[in-house]
Amino acid sequence: MIRYILFDLDNTLYSAHYGLEDNVSRRIIEFLAMHFDFSLEEAERQHRDLLKVYSTTAEWLITEKGFTDIEPYYAAIHPVGEADSLPRNPQLRSFLASLHLPLAVLTNSPKEHADRILDKLAISDLFTRVFDIRWNRFRGKPAPETFHRVLDVLGTAPETTLFIDDIPRCVEGYLALGGKGLLLDEPDAYPSYTHDRIRTLPELTGFIC
Ligand SMILES: [Mg+2]
Repeated sequence: MIRYILFDLDNTLYSAHYGLEDNVSRRIIEFLAMHFDFSLEEAERQHRDLLKVYSTTAEWLITEKGFTDIEPYYAAIHPVGEADSLPRNPQLRSFLASLHLPLAVLTNSPKEHADRILDKLAISDLFTRVFDIRWNRFRGKPAPETFHRVLDVLGTAPETTLFIDDIPRCVEGYLALGGKGLLLDEPDAYPSYTHDRIRTLPELTGFIC
């Protein structure tokens, strides 16, 4: 019996089709190229490789590169206005409200980014909590302690909390804890994924009873 639903934010509560996440990735690569004097190709390779080990680029910058002030990085990759091209989505609001379960967000992004997205989608008030990367001390999904801290605060357990994310490793990290996890694979990018997978958010209703 599911008692709580925990959502990823980017490319989960809005479609990857809008390109917001692609823009963030592009700004991350540009930041790495500029800061470390990499070519764009080298920055892209570093970014791809670091995400095999670290939850976020910020965690890598702090741990491997000795960053003590991460805020200029976040200001560069999450500029004001980043969510302007995202349309409102009344159907999403109706759908979330119809679930009649408490809802929360767990994102590897900083709060200002989450606030912009949720405000633009006009769904901020539907969530009991938004757990961002600063709250998680820059160690985000799929680290087990991240999920445990979030569930402790929510007062719920992995077996009764459905988690939805568009990144396989994040869902798999949650499944490894005994959680109920769903991969939202809108573009059908992971056809060989072996656990539960949905193509659209409304399909999650098949997994909450
Ligand atoms: Mg995502």
